[in-house]
Order: sequence, then structure tokens, then C-alpha cells
Amino acid sequence: MSTVGLQKITKAFPDGTVAVDNVSLDVRDGEVMVLLGPSGCGKSTLLRIIAGLEDPTTGQLLLDGEPALDIPPRDRHVAMVFQDYALYPQLTVAGNIAFPLRLAGVSVEEQSERVADVAAALGIGELLNRKPSQLSGGQRQRVAMGRAIVRRPRLFLMDEPLSSLDSGLRAELRAEISSMVRDLGATTVYVTHDQAEALTVADRIAIMRRGVLQDVGTPAEVYGRPATMYVAALLGTPKINLLEAVVHVYDGSRVALRIGEQELNVPWDDLRARALAHYHGERIVVGLRAEALVAGGHELRGRVRYVEHHGHESLAYLDIGAFAVVIDDPTGPVTAPKLDRGFLARFRKRPDVQTVATTPEG
Ligand code: ATP
Repeated sequence: MSTVGLQKITKAFPDGTVAVDNVSLDVRDGEVMVLLGPSGCGKSTLLRIIAGLEDPTTGQLLLDGEPALDIPPRDRHVAMVFQDYALYPQLTVAGNIAFPLRLAGVSVEEQSERVADVAAALGIGELLNRKPSQLSGGQRQRVAMGRAIVRRPRLFLMDEPLSSLDSGLRAELRAEISSMVRDLGATTVYVTHDQAEALTVADRIAIMRRGVLQDVGTPAEVYGRPATMYVAALLGTPKINLLEAVVHVYDGSRVALRIGEQELNVPWDDLRARALAHYHGERIVVGLRAEALVAGGHELRGRVRYVEHHGHESLAYLDIGAFAVVIDDPTGPVTAPKLDRGFLARFRKRPDVQTVATTPEG
């Protein structure tokens, strides 16, 4: 059993910077919770508070349901993996992994047994006698992970563990980390600013902005039904199209979105059409994912500004009114995307524009 409870945590530094602003979040047993947000949003500070390296100004931290702020870091049974690995250069791989066991007074026999197990699990069994300077970035990362795992902590805290690796290795290792922490069944809090990494690794994602928690949910939830426009724009490649539109209901049986000079019909059998109908005559923002638009329809028309080829698909960037729209580019013409698999409009916060609360379920 290992859970983390953050209750109304605020951290203000002496210079007045509020790094974390009233964040409440529960991490469930065995879950991989990713804290996602741009540089400076407070995710590392939150992680350091869980580890005991930083005290919150106000709020409570629960570990396994018990108040934990008074527990010294070393007694919290958490293991932290940083982006810079912090391996001991003079020690071998085996020595680095065994280090926390040595500190804990574990017998030499048990040390080598546990090191061998962990190294095998991470695929670095052949490297035990090397020094860190003789390893690649990815191999060093594995050693750092091994050193964290070997203590069998109840909680893993990972701060941008892949950020200093090149993109190919990142993609490879993020899948590995994801399967490894699942195999271990260890509760993990994982910090990253990379949305693709978050979507791959997470059971749930907590999105932060300027110290404030914006949204929490599974990758499918935060991608498909983001709580705010900020979240919608942060997740997904290409970026979601956010378009201002005026809702128009015809005879109570057809809903259209007026975008610039054009109209985009929303099929009446789409539950979201009914929700939209409440906003007749109002200006809203709709989020249209590129994958929800298909070429070859007879609705939105625009000039193709440029086309990007990505192997499995192509993306056409269109100029529609004042807006750029991204569509999949099958074989047909790309000048007329129409709404295919639905869209989303569930943004709660945008003071200047009327917002719509609707979900795929209605
Ligand atoms: P990054 O990805 O760049 O590490 P982050 O999201 O992890 O960013 P934090 O490191 O948690 O962000 O920092 C949050 C905010 O708090 C930033 O504005 C940062 O400048 C500020 N901050 C962090 N440590 C201190 C400190 N000791 N004193 C004052 N401000 C600090």
C-alpha cells in the first residue's frame, strides 16, 4: 500500500514567488501520476515537498493516509531519480546500485544478490564493472533507476528523468520506464514538461500552470475532455485548433457553428449538438482536433498554406478566415474539411468568451 495525499499545498518562497498555489491531489496505490507543465510551473517544488526536501508554507501531506510533514526525508521511504543521474564517478555500476544498501547496512551477499536482480531487470547486467564515464546516457539513466529501485521504496519520485537524453532514446526509455514501474507495482510521481512523454507514461496526468492545478485525469480524459483551453492546447500534436465561433440553431433541428464567413454543421444526432443549442447566438470557442476533421467534405473551405508529410499521415495547414486549421490529408483534395468524429467544447475558463460545458456523453 502506498498513497500520497496533497491537501491544499501552497509554497511561497521568501522572495514572494508562489511556486505552488493551493494544490490538492491524491495519488493512488500503484499509480503512475505525471505532473505536467511548462518550466517554472511548480512541479519540481511539489515533488520536493513529497520527498521532504522542501516544506510547504501551508497545507498537509499524507503518505499512506498519515500526516508526513514531520517525517524526516530519509524515513519517508521514497526514492528520487533526477535528470542529472548524480552517479558516483569513482564507483562501478555495481557499486553505484549497491550504495544505498551499503548505507542501510545490508550484508555483502544480499547486496550482490539484489544488485544482480535489479541489473538483470534493467538489462545492464553486462555493465556491472564499468564506471559511469564508460556508459551511454541511457545506460547511466538505467543505473540511476537501479539505484532507486534496489531499496524497494514505497514511492518513486522522478524529476524529468529523460530530459538530458536525445529524442530517440527518450522515446525508447519512456516506454521502458512505464513498463518497469508497472511491473514493480510501485506508486510513482513523475515530473515532465513533455506532453508526449506524459501521455505515454501516465496512468493519470495532473496539469499545472503557474503553481495552479488545471486538470487531473487519465490521458484519454485530459486529451478528449480538457478542463480548460490551456490544457487543450498543451496536449496533442498537432496542436488543437481553437476557433471562435457563433452558435446558430436552425428550426430547433440543426446546429451550425459560424466560423468567420463559413458554417460548420454539427450533426443533430451528435449529443454535443443539443448541448451547443443552448448557446444560440453566442460566441464560444470550439476545439477541433485535426483527427476530427476529414478532407473532402463540403463545409469549411480554406486555402492550403502548407502541407507537412509525416509518413503515416499528412497535415494540411489551412487558412480559414482568421484561423489556421489542421487536417489529415488522405489522397483527396484538402481544401474542404468537414467535421467527422466530433469535436470538443468543454472549456470552463475564458473570461472574454462564452464557454460551453459539454462532453461526448452530453
Ligand atoms: P522546471 O521544469 O524548470 O524545473 P518546475 O515546474 O519544476 O520548472 P519549480 O522548480 O517547481 O518549477 O519552480 C517553480 C517556481 O518557483 C519558479 O518560478 C521558480 O523560479 C521558483 N523557485 C524555485 N525555487 C525557488 C527558491 N528557492 N526561491 C525562490 N523561488 C524559487
